[in-house]
Amino acid sequence: MEATTSLLDAAAVGDLVMLDPLSEEALLRTLQERFSREEIYTYIGEVVISVNPYKPLPIYTPEKVEEYHNCNFFAVKPHIYAIADDAYCSLRDRDRDQCILITGESGAGKTEASKLVMSYVAAVSSKGEEVDKVKEQLLQSNPVLEAFGNAKTIRNDNSSRFGKYMDVEFDFKGDPLGGVITNYLLEKSRIVRHVKGERNFHIFYQLLAGGSAQLLQKLKLRPDCSYYGYLNREKSVLPGMDDAANFRAMQDAMAIIGFTPTEVTALLEVTAVVLKLGNVELSSCFQASGMEASSITEPRELQEISQLIGLDPSTLEQALCSRTVKVRDESVLTALSVSQGYYGRDALAKNIYSRLFDWLVNRINTSIKVKPGKQRKVMGVLDIYGFEIFQDNGFEQFIINYCNEKLQQIFILMTLKEEQEEYVREGIKWTPVEFFDNSIICDLIENSKVGILAMLDEECLRPGTVNEDTFITKLNQIFASHKRYESKETLNAKHVTDISLPLRCFRIHHYAGKVTYNVTGFIEKNNDLLFRDLSQAMWAARHTLLRSLFPEGDPQRPSLKLPPTTGSQFKASVATLMKNLYSKNPNYIRCIKPNDTKTAMLFTPDLVLAQVRYLGLMENVRVRRAGYAFRQLYQPFLKRYKMLSRRTWPHWTGSDREGTEVLLAELKFPSEELAYGHTKIFIRSPRTLFDLEKRRQQ
Ligand code: ATP
Ligand code: MG
Repeated sequence: MEATTSLLDAAAVGDLVMLDPLSEEALLRTLQERFSREEIYTYIGEVVISVNPYKPLPIYTPEKVEEYHNCNFFAVKPHIYAIADDAYCSLRDRDRDQCILITGESGAGKTEASKLVMSYVAAVSSKGEEVDKVKEQLLQSNPVLEAFGNAKTIRNDNSSRFGKYMDVEFDFKGDPLGGVITNYLLEKSRIVRHVKGERNFHIFYQLLAGGSAQLLQKLKLRPDCSYYGYLNREKSVLPGMDDAANFRAMQDAMAIIGFTPTEVTALLEVTAVVLKLGNVELSSCFQASGMEASSITEPRELQEISQLIGLDPSTLEQALCSRTVKVRDESVLTALSVSQGYYGRDALAKNIYSRLFDWLVNRINTSIKVKPGKQRKVMGVLDIYGFEIFQDNGFEQFIINYCNEKLQQIFILMTLKEEQEEYVREGIKWTPVEFFDNSIICDLIENSKVGILAMLDEECLRPGTVNEDTFITKLNQIFASHKRYESKETLNAKHVTDISLPLRCFRIHHYAGKVTYNVTGFIEKNNDLLFRDLSQAMWAARHTLLRSLFPEGDPQRPSLKLPPTTGSQFKASVATLMKNLYSKNPNYIRCIKPNDTKTAMLFTPDLVLAQVRYLGLMENVRVRRAGYAFRQLYQPFLKRYKMLSRRTWPHWTGSDREGTEVLLAELKFPSEELAYGHTKIFIRSPRTLFDLEKRRQQ
């Protein structure tokens, strides 16, 4: 009985740092109890945990914005607005660039959280014609990117199928000037294939449902999803999602951002081409030589595509059905089999769409970018795919989980390790907190010589027919004794029966759990090759936007080295992202999905516990409890507060440290609240700091 009471009491605690006693169970119960009271936000120090309510809550009103604006962080209920305010104010007043890292699994509420942060900042920064325009443009990038980059999945009706990092730039007064969006790895395989119960990217359904008869006619489209192969020939209407209304909202958003009508038309034409490519059917015929060749069954779709992009249909047909092969110095046209033809067609559709998406991001950036030369402060917001463990995990999961491993690493480095190291540096007594350092897993994947990605690249470079056999054999040899790697053989020997093992696979023990990767498709996806004939055909089209997406198709262009592989590109962009994040002050929003059925206010403890574990929340609490909430160099600290003591005001002639000691002794704070480091003063609880601020303002 007593235990229950204390847990219930603990439930009132908005900051898990105050939890007493601290246990996984108490932490979980607190989250559950708070959730049942519709308190979806809980802190660990300045980290916000957000549990998805799956229903609209009345806590995002303008009144709420007002309540949290310039609030005292610990005087109000935990809220995402409080962290947004804290980040914004320290950017504006203390010149510290900020980043907001939003993590959690699919459906946990990351994208919603990022939008709440953005709209909060927009609401509290100053108003004016110019600033309002910038804000609108920044906010309106969402419906556009969501239309093209989000899709219904089993886990989330509006799942982001790309990673997004947005730097919002501010002037010295804290007014938004503009921003830069970086996108990461769009799940382009969805263009040609998606499982039953899921959908392709929203834009296709939006266009067919919301496009006017005139527009559809111009794009040579039928207002019928079931007509299109890439839409699984399903009607796919989603309850609660109005595709037609979203299409209008997306068009309005584009106009606000500054897309010209010509650009919008070009964008939709290319989108239509992708959709129509899925209806280009091939059948086999036999050449005089007896070799199998493919030909286009029904020329109408081909002709329409050709008209849309301004290309001779026979050029397109030839590029889809055959391929130029260099034999010695001669170019020979060879026929493709039907399966090769379909492979080429799908590769083309995926490539057009993903390059179009990159173009879209660049185009938005052109509108929102800040003129060079202006001094600026930056707030970065990261909304990126969470850790994924599926039944069948392929190349995409491998890449996504690698990214999460890096994010975990930065989380560890920035909050745990840095914290401890600073205490050691400053000579402050510190009881070390055990934490798991995941560098070993990052290294397993990204080491430039013997990392899995480097070895995959090596296989991709090998001439001749390649398959994953040699790749997996090499991995198994090199990582035979790696603590975090398991081959199929070791799994078999251990009789792991929780999953049926694919033909070729390996397992990695990630920080968040063990994942078995099916290696089939790794080489193809990493290479991401498009037959040269296809890129040349696209470049030959008169459609300006489309041809600009395929610069390598220019026959005059000296044939470049092989393009970088998907894996190496991703590794490089993650490295840039990490560098960018390291240079900023981090703020964390850890999103939790409380149930698997998108049910309002349902909390499934087992599911939440798994996320609590892989988000490392217990470790996070332990470190915060052991630590000091605030620290500052003696000099600025004394400068700010010396007015509070007659002995230090207006001039203190001794050292800054002594001055700080004299000042704080006079104010009579309890000694356990303070620690004097070599260069900095440490204050244990935020309340003491608020107390100082209050006195300063009196
Ligand atoms: P993914 O990784 O698949 O993109 P996500 O973490 O971005 O997932 P969201 O799209 O943000 O997830 O959220 C999924 C759904 O949950 C939203 O469409 C919305 O219905 C609901 N939701 C999320 N956050 C909130 C919130 N704060 N209040 C009410 N509903 C929410
Ligand atoms: Mg999302």
